[in-house]
Amino acid sequence: MVKKFYDFVKNSLISSSQMDGFKGTEYKYPLLYGITGVNVPSKEMINHALERVKEEIGGFSGDALWLAELVAFLKDGELVFLVDDAFRWLCVALNEGTNGWALLMGNEEKDTIFRLINELQEKKFRVFVTGSLVDGIEELPESVTSFGSSQTGLIYFAQLLVRYALIYGRVPVGDLHELSHSIEENAPGVIFVVGELSSIERLLVQGMLSLGTPVISLRNTQNLVGSLIVSQTISDMADKAWKLPNIRARLVVKATPDVPVPVGKVFTHEEILEADVGLRLDGSLFSFIIAKPSLMVQEDAVTVLGDVKETSTFCVLVELGNRNVDDPMTLWIGRILRRVINYAKGIKVKSKGNRLIDFIMTKEALKSGFKPEHLGNLIKTELRNVFPSIGPIHVTFILNKEDAKKMYPAILSFIEERKNKIKNATEESESVFYGCTRCRSFSLAHACTVTPERSSQCGVRPWYMIKAHAILDPGSVYEPCVLIYKGKCLDPLRGEYEGVNRSTERRTEGRVKRIYLHSIFDFPHTACSCFQNIAFHIPEVDGIGLMPRDFKGEAPNGMTWTKLANKIAGRQCIDGVASFSVGYLHSRKFFQGDGGYSRVVWMTDHLKKIAGDAIPEKFKRSIATEKNITTIEELKTFIKKNRPPETL
Ligand code: SF4
Repeated sequence: MVKKFYDFVKNSLISSSQMDGFKGTEYKYPLLYGITGVNVPSKEMINHALERVKEEIGGFSGDALWLAELVAFLKDGELVFLVDDAFRWLCVALNEGTNGWALLMGNEEKDTIFRLINELQEKKFRVFVTGSLVDGIEELPESVTSFGSSQTGLIYFAQLLVRYALIYGRVPVGDLHELSHSIEENAPGVIFVVGELSSIERLLVQGMLSLGTPVISLRNTQNLVGSLIVSQTISDMADKAWKLPNIRARLVVKATPDVPVPVGKVFTHEEILEADVGLRLDGSLFSFIIAKPSLMVQEDAVTVLGDVKETSTFCVLVELGNRNVDDPMTLWIGRILRRVINYAKGIKVKSKGNRLIDFIMTKEALKSGFKPEHLGNLIKTELRNVFPSIGPIHVTFILNKEDAKKMYPAILSFIEERKNKIKNATEESESVFYGCTRCRSFSLAHACTVTPERSSQCGVRPWYMIKAHAILDPGSVYEPCVLIYKGKCLDPLRGEYEGVNRSTERRTEGRVKRIYLHSIFDFPHTACSCFQNIAFHIPEVDGIGLMPRDFKGEAPNGMTWTKLANKIAGRQCIDGVASFSVGYLHSRKFFQGDGGYSRVVWMTDHLKKIAGDAIPEKFKRSIATEKNITTIEELKTFIKKNRPPETL
């Protein structure tokens, strides 16, 4: 197999001078960089590696991987390569329910391959394919990603695993030993061999085995050596993968409501044609859909006020008897309510916030005998699927305008009161903060601490949501949320708390012992990859720059999003860099430990517009954007000219 590979690489590379590497990545050749620590290889280095492969000396199969990467670059250009941003999104999906990445190779017949794809997708693997397998299938399911039919397609999968180890595992570049441990234990990839491999593919799979990647082969060892797993059946292959230490084996069994129509997430956005409508109940000025606490509720119940045949409005009131449910938590529970209420096929409840607009049932659903009581059952079951410890639930449907009108003022004042409670909550007013480690599925040393004044890094998980999951969904594999008793405040300005440090240390398994909530220096908050923005020190002017995820340009100090994101993803931020959400721009405590906006010298124009009046008037003119300046020298001049003299 080695001779063929040698000739293949030699012939491909012999006349090449265009070796500038892949674009859209911090690593021109991720495999080469991870394995050898070199960014771009010299001709000499290539020749040495080729000789080692030819003579089968030392770790020649590792050399074969990066040599194949060079060939793939020359043959495919940018066509197949996944840029760093796309790679990070694949990682972020690991917290959304992807349990691992599977690469399928081999020339097995189509039916077998499709069976394996189905088994793996049922276990929530993200499936990739490459090599001769791709040639044998005319049409792949959309959910499957192809790295093309070339013999070197495997290297694109290898690049994912190596980048994972470099970014999230923080493996030192060129440390092959550490790299292979990190891939074996944490990088979420498995290779499945179904059918024969070509000799070149076999050498590359051997290289992956030596890098620590688990390989599962169907019935045949393919002459591969190392910790290869041989399975006799497709089901066994999927089961074996499920038990590997690097796979996030998580499946949650959910209860199904007792209703006469099919139910599932898949029906959430089902469109109902006018001709199919069997019943439409319009909302009125007084219609609402809301969840609220009620200590009167002792057990589950469904009540219908009014008669469907004489309805004059439609409202949904969900009262929760659990004494731990407070008003802010119900804002999140209400959002889940508005989602799950649409899980039934042929039944749709349209709402805008707390206002219910209409209720539609298809002729088919009507014929099935579906009644409001069934919708009540569905709400109870699905809410309990999301919040297993939610306690007793009383669902009331109000179909009579007079009843709705009577209840309406109390509902409005509940909404107002809840809004004020959320708006007025501060770090001082709360004895408890909230922790989320959902991104731990890919980011091993990250643990979010969320407070009313330091929103989550991803920006989409407000504190009252994390609180709801911590209390009503404890121990969840998909929503690992906890309460953090903040304890003694050690530094009110930078936001250091005894309890937060303790919790961070516990949640990162000792990797991170200290964090400041409101400073980017010394002990900044940990970062995952779904953060919305990054704050970074610009030492030349001792100021702070702010960059959002979608910014494609460069900061005045040459920093790009990719460079910054790869720097902090997956670990405690290094001194002088921290991630933050858009909402934090408006926090009273916005990086107050570093001087807040008085220290910000550069931010993108878009971010500046979003921050708006959160920026104190006297600093609005003194913060440059990419529209004013592009270099450090220009930034220095801009600061001199525009900064309030007392802050210089
Ligand atoms: S709150 Fe933090 S850990 Fe949780 S999903 Fe968002 S970024 Fe990830």
